[in-house]
Amino acid sequence: MLPGFSFAQNTGSKKSSDNIEKKVDSVLSLMTLKEKIGQLVLYNGSWDVTGPPSDVGNKEKYQKLKNGEVGAMLNATSVAGTKELQKTVIENSRLKIPLLFGYDVIHGFKTIFPIPLGESASWDLEAIKKSSSIAAKEATASGINWAFGPMVDISRDARWGRIMEGAGEDPFLASKIAVARIHGFQGDDLSKNNTLAACAKHFAAYGFAEGGRDYNTVSIGEYELHNTVLPPFKAAVDAGVASMMSAFNEIDGIPATGHKGLQRDILKNTWNWDGFVVSDWASIAEMIFHGYAKDKTQAAELAMNAGNDMDMEGRAYETGLEQLVKDGKVDEKLIDEAAKRILRVKFKLGLFDDPFKYCDEEREKKDIYTKENLEASRDVAKKSIVLLKNDNNVLPLKKDVKSIAVIGPLADDKDTPIGSWRGMATPNSAVSLLEGIKTAVNQSVKISHAKGVELGVGERSFVRDLKVNREDFKGIEEAVKIAKDAEVVVLAIGEEAFQSGEARSQVSIELTKPQQKLFEAVYAVNKNIVVVLMNGRPMAISDIAEKVPSIVETWHLGSASGNAIADVLFGDYNPSGKLPVSFPRHVGQLPLYYNVKNTGRPTNADGMVFWSHYTDEKNDALFPFGHGLSYTEFEYKDLKISAPSFSSGGNISVSVKLTNKGKRKGKEVVQLYIRDLIGSLTRPVKELKGFELVELAPNESKTITFEINEETIQFYTANKKWEAEPGDFKAFVGGSSNTDLEIDFTFKK
Ligand code: BGC
Repeated sequence: MLPGFSFAQNTGSKKSSDNIEKKVDSVLSLMTLKEKIGQLVLYNGSWDVTGPPSDVGNKEKYQKLKNGEVGAMLNATSVAGTKELQKTVIENSRLKIPLLFGYDVIHGFKTIFPIPLGESASWDLEAIKKSSSIAAKEATASGINWAFGPMVDISRDARWGRIMEGAGEDPFLASKIAVARIHGFQGDDLSKNNTLAACAKHFAAYGFAEGGRDYNTVSIGEYELHNTVLPPFKAAVDAGVASMMSAFNEIDGIPATGHKGLQRDILKNTWNWDGFVVSDWASIAEMIFHGYAKDKTQAAELAMNAGNDMDMEGRAYETGLEQLVKDGKVDEKLIDEAAKRILRVKFKLGLFDDPFKYCDEEREKKDIYTKENLEASRDVAKKSIVLLKNDNNVLPLKKDVKSIAVIGPLADDKDTPIGSWRGMATPNSAVSLLEGIKTAVNQSVKISHAKGVELGVGERSFVRDLKVNREDFKGIEEAVKIAKDAEVVVLAIGEEAFQSGEARSQVSIELTKPQQKLFEAVYAVNKNIVVVLMNGRPMAISDIAEKVPSIVETWHLGSASGNAIADVLFGDYNPSGKLPVSFPRHVGQLPLYYNVKNTGRPTNADGMVFWSHYTDEKNDALFPFGHGLSYTEFEYKDLKISAPSFSSGGNISVSVKLTNKGKRKGKEVVQLYIRDLIGSLTRPVKELKGFELVELAPNESKTITFEINEETIQFYTANKKWEAEPGDFKAFVGGSSNTDLEIDFTFKK
């Protein structure tokens, strides 16, 4: 028990939350203004745990920790490190308020799961929740009690490197996935020592950066903000997310970190949320560069008044807030409120009862990177794979196939599958595709391997300076030689791990020149190619898609990558993934997404030359949102509606008969879309409103039913509120957003 406080911990019920409020108030009543501001300070750092730091910057932080002028630390990632920092506060500061320890737990801690975009392709909310709960288990065993995730930003622009961190382009799917991830992190009891506080980020509209250039200006309107950007954040609030991170970008002239309308008005007042907002890295101070604040003091004033509670390494709150309160520019009540929000989370975590509850050396030794966790990683990895194309049933491969040529720069890469934002992963620790294939096949199979070319990624790569020669094609000869003799070629191509992630925007989303050359040379001698794509963003691969019979999208799949891909290639797992994001034909189509709106020009080009289109490329996606094949075949039939209309308070249901017409057991994601024909604001041509993951044996049928009620059809209307407008609608059901199986219904007020 912490000296000075004697609060029994319990969470969950109304009574216990009343108790927490009393405790928060009583701690706050003891605090000086400086100590309250201290709770709003988040520092980066872990230092040599054998003693106080020697460098000036860290010495200063150390002193502030002792003074009780720091509320949280980030990037301290071991029990030894977090324990030392926590001890510094507990043993030296007046009020001994424990620290939060934050870390970017994005797709695993040490056991790495598929990148979030890839995992979202599973549409499997249970599996997604499980991977987050394992990540929480591992991170908390290493001293972390606060994850900077999930990222819930919608993105429709594959040029943006951070598209890999989210759940794709659709607000409905992304909301469901946000909730699964938050439940996985936070569990049903935040006070357990193997769950942690989640942080939904980046509030808001970070994924709408102009030109896909990271950190860039966002100028979307109010309607897009409410209907597309905010729903996953609202879902996070409803799921009880402990914190949110503000975004780097400005929105229509106001930096998100200083945006009162977003943070204080919507998030805190309208949504009535009681968690805390942390800035992104130095984003309070960055308002100076935005040209919105003249110095750190003014930046602190703007951010605090706007409702940003904690300053991540911006050094603005510690610089300016005390004086701002004295000068009457910031009301001390706002500082109290911010400090309370942070203390509340600390109480919920149970840190006041035991500040060292996450400092368990035994757990650190036994709970991290376990066999069981790696198996779970393989399980969700195989579910995240999307079979994009499979002509002539080239896949699944037979385990006694005579010979396989495993070719490509990523074929035996043990690092790329770990992806960007890789937590504490050991470099080169993933199972490579070649290793996975070798383990899966019979001894008799002849496996040959050639890298062919290097990836040929540009020198501007942010973290890795890959000084490669983009004109080096020497290895292609060897690849062609083995391709010629092989029964089947497995070609592993795509993107390097750090081509996506923060500050990794690209203008090109095609294969690099060496990879394109390799593909052409191999294809010239053997057309029986299975392309295994590994990538952190949708890629424009029209040329390949036209030619090869089979393409498997495997993203950056995590620790068990090679085994999971082999599970799919050889049919031990029948692929069930569906794209959470559209794959363009060409980079020039971006932003690209299925839930577009019609223009004033007819969409049907018959006889019209002035419809909204490109003259040199089609409008639609190469592979649309929701697309994904299986080794079996699903038939959708008998689309029915329970009644032609419903009115306020009522509902109707749409049902469809799904039959497995093939010879294998398989899973299908049955998707429901709706279209609101006329609205007070223009409405998308299709919007996802429901989905169900269904497993069927061969010849088995099941009737899938979706309820439609007011909530299904509501949107942020011209009245500036969420409501259902009366009118005519269409419901579509199918295995992708391309479905044309439709039925009409009406909503009457
Ligand atoms: C990123 C955040 C991340 C933070 C801390 C920032 O640069 O935008 O998503 O949580 O760094 O690492």
